[in-house]
Amino acid sequence: MNLEVNIIGAGLAGVEVAWQLSKYNNIEIKLFEQKPVKFSPVHSSENFAELVCSNSLKSEKLENAEGVLKAEMEMLDSLVIKCAKKTRIPAGKALAVDRKLFSECITNKIKLLPNVEIIRKEITEIDLSNPSKIWVIATGPTTDGKLAEWLSKITNGFLNFFDAVSPIISAESINYDICFFGDRYGVGTGDYINCPLTKKEYERFYNALISSQIVKIEGFDRKLLFERCQPIEEIAKTGIDSLRYGPMKPVGITDPKSGKKPYAVVQLRKENEEGTMYNIVGFQTRLKWKEQSRIIKMIPGLENAEILRYGVMHRNTYIDSPHVLDKFLRHKKYKNLFFAGQITGVEGYAESAATGIYVGINIRRILTGEKMLPFPKKTMIGALLDYITSAKELKPMYANFGLLPLEKIIKNKNDRRKYLSNRCLEIMRNFVKNELCI
Ligand SMILES: Cc1cc2nc3c(=O)[nH]c(=O)nc-3n(C[C@H](O)[C@H](O)[C@H](O)COP(=O)(O)OP(=O)(O)OC[C@H]3O[C@@H](n4cnc5c(N)ncnc54)[C@H](O)[C@@H]3O)c2cc1C
Repeated sequence: MNLEVNIIGAGLAGVEVAWQLSKYNNIEIKLFEQKPVKFSPVHSSENFAELVCSNSLKSEKLENAEGVLKAEMEMLDSLVIKCAKKTRIPAGKALAVDRKLFSECITNKIKLLPNVEIIRKEITEIDLSNPSKIWVIATGPTTDGKLAEWLSKITNGFLNFFDAVSPIISAESINYDICFFGDRYGVGTGDYINCPLTKKEYERFYNALISSQIVKIEGFDRKLLFERCQPIEEIAKTGIDSLRYGPMKPVGITDPKSGKKPYAVVQLRKENEEGTMYNIVGFQTRLKWKEQSRIIKMIPGLENAEILRYGVMHRNTYIDSPHVLDKFLRHKKYKNLFFAGQITGVEGYAESAATGIYVGINIRRILTGEKMLPFPKKTMIGALLDYITSAKELKPMYANFGLLPLEKIIKNKNDRRKYLSNRCLEIMRNFVKNELCI
């Protein structure tokens, strides 16, 4: 048998596929990556697994679905989690990373794998005629050009949603006479920077924001905005208090200088280990760049803000997985074609990487003469995969406890989460040991 696997895209999912497959020496792996020959509008580094927006892989707490997801990935020897832990920077309960070091860590580990050949080239079409040649498409939500045209034909057209990124500012440009360090309720390592606003400042900021100019995007439809990543100007349009109850909520914060609770607060999170860059939490936007600069400078403490990266909005593309893919994320018609990452309909860095682990493990099993294995539905990864391959109407999905089957009623939310979390981890632990034998 010809043991050749071609992976297209060295993003969060593609690198996990390569990492899992590389454990079997007899497989010849080709990893195609279009950077630096071509960059999507959100990618800018030559390195693999680029985090295009937030530098956080979300909470690590096991009472949180995202925490469970990452703990399961760690049991499966995830490369993304390994490098995230190596390059983490303090951010309270979240697993936040220095994005440059994180991508470098992943790229270096992949480069060291003896059976992975890295080919820097844009793939535009795939020849599926040789059934013993396996292909994995892990080109992410910004898949475009000729490949997108070709893919659209074999998947009966794409589905779409819109997503935006937050600006990053230089730490030096923050006015520390006004801003102060601290976490909500004093829980955490005190690494967030807070910019406090009075009622008057908040109203002035709000009015400027709702009347500012936005970038027009072809085909944009408000209904297609991803609910977890709404642009700040869109949240603002839903009412004057929407930001105070959303990304600018002041709860659990007291200004140590005045001893007062701010009316609203803007939080900044460290972008890199050195602490020279900060991103504005929850400020994803599609305002025109000149407007972003004007609006951000209205925030007390950011009047001299130097913007290092502006916020932008993009169309995210994914396929109708329940109709196109089987439960192994393999094309129903072309059995040598697999998909991994956000293009399958999952949402999020860790979720995208988790699908790569799944596809990598199962391709490895085919090539070593074993049967492919679905992950148990009572694990977080298994439940997510089950949803994206069986939903009646697929909507981008991230890890959450609602995906998990529950055979008994547990009224208290915290008890329910604890139960589900423990159950997921125990089932995954046994599955890894007894079924996958890793
Ligand atoms: C604007 C935006 C903001 C986002 N913000 C967040 C966030 O803050 N938090 C979060 O958890 N998730 C976020 N996501 C969602 C998602 O987690 C990321 O997009 C994630 O990177 C998806 O991983 P992936 O491996 O599927 O794709 P990617 O990481 O995008 O990797 C795809 C790779 O394939 C390469 N490629 C593409 N086409 C070709 C081709 N034809 N030939 C060869 N190579 C190709 C690309 O260069 C890229 O390296 C965001 C997505 C977008 C678009």
